[in-house]
Amino acid sequence: MAVTEGVTPAPPPGDLPPMDLAARVDRLRERLEGAGCDALVVTDLTNVRYLTGFTGSAGIVLVAPDDLLFVSDGRYRDQAAEELDAAGVPARIEIVPANPDGVVADAARAAGVQRLGLESGSVTWAQQRRWEGELFGDGTLVPTSGLVEELRLVKDEGEAVRIRAACAIADAALAKVRDRLLDGPTEAEFALELDNAMRALGAEDVSFETIVASGPNGAKPHHRPGPRRIREGDLVVIDFGALVDGYHSDMTRTVAVGDVGAERERMLEVVLAAQAAGVEAVAAGVEAAEVDRVCRDVIGEAGLGDAFLHGTGHGVGLDIHEEPRVSARSTATLVAGHVVTVEPGVYLPELGGVRIEDTVLVTDDGCDRLTLAPKEPSLR
Ligand code: ZN
Ligand code: ZN
Repeated sequence: MAVTEGVTPAPPPGDLPPMDLAARVDRLRERLEGAGCDALVVTDLTNVRYLTGFTGSAGIVLVAPDDLLFVSDGRYRDQAAEELDAAGVPARIEIVPANPDGVVADAARAAGVQRLGLESGSVTWAQQRRWEGELFGDGTLVPTSGLVEELRLVKDEGEAVRIRAACAIADAALAKVRDRLLDGPTEAEFALELDNAMRALGAEDVSFETIVASGPNGAKPHHRPGPRRIREGDLVVIDFGALVDGYHSDMTRTVAVGDVGAERERMLEVVLAAQAAGVEAVAAGVEAAEVDRVCRDVIGEAGLGDAFLHGTGHGVGLDIHEEPRVSARSTATLVAGHVVTVEPGVYLPELGGVRIEDTVLVTDDGCDRLTLAPKEPSLR
């Protein structure tokens, strides 16, 4: 498959092109009938953001054929109006002191909705009972799953630009602080420097809590950076990302500090080869499970199969971990516009860990690699 590298330059985070959110709402409306409902109540806040541009912590959206209603409370009176207006989303906004779900239920009834969809992944049992009882007891509630998430799978141009920008910030931040590993910082100190560098380069936040796992700590794939000092002979697994306008990047590099010995060198070589083969396997029409198998085969042939402790990758977007999963059990087929990670690793308690991860944009004949920090691992 054809692997390109950052075909479009990433814009600075302050200069992002607008996105067409109203079109997303229309695409969702087209899916309602197939899901067996007349309207959908969107409660998952990431989905709310995807459809309306609202970034606050409390908001519910009713998507009906002829109505689009956003409900929040007084804390978000001005922010909701500003963000929905900036996103060009033609929604009615209602700000209420309490029970926003009651306002949504009333609006659904007023719109003649008989079958009201709820997002089963985000509604709690208690909320469902409330909907079934006092809120919408006279109508039919339809549990839905993945209606908005499936739209989010294929990134539109504006989304791809944001992920690209987040990846570019992560690349630049690592380049800025990487040599500090030679000065013997603790894991926590190095993580903080990396995080600060991303913020200084324009990230609105980190993508997730940065992982810096040195020496034996590297054998724990999700080790939290602690007081251990990084020293000569360590492998250091650094897994981190930047957030740009809500969109994440995700990259892992493993750095060899000084002479790490032949066994660790071999771990690095095996994972680098597996990761390159995985990236090479990515293309539209390829099953996600096949990408996992390609990585697993390389590591298995090297006799390290049991040390590859996790799936090969995941989708990246408004959530750091989203569909499609790239694992042996995944049933997804890659589509142009998916953004996924390829991140095989091996973890041996006596030697430490190695993981290499890129975020890639799936294209018709391969992928565009978005995380471009060098992988040559040695630092002396
Ligand atoms: Zn990662
Ligand atoms: Zn990842």
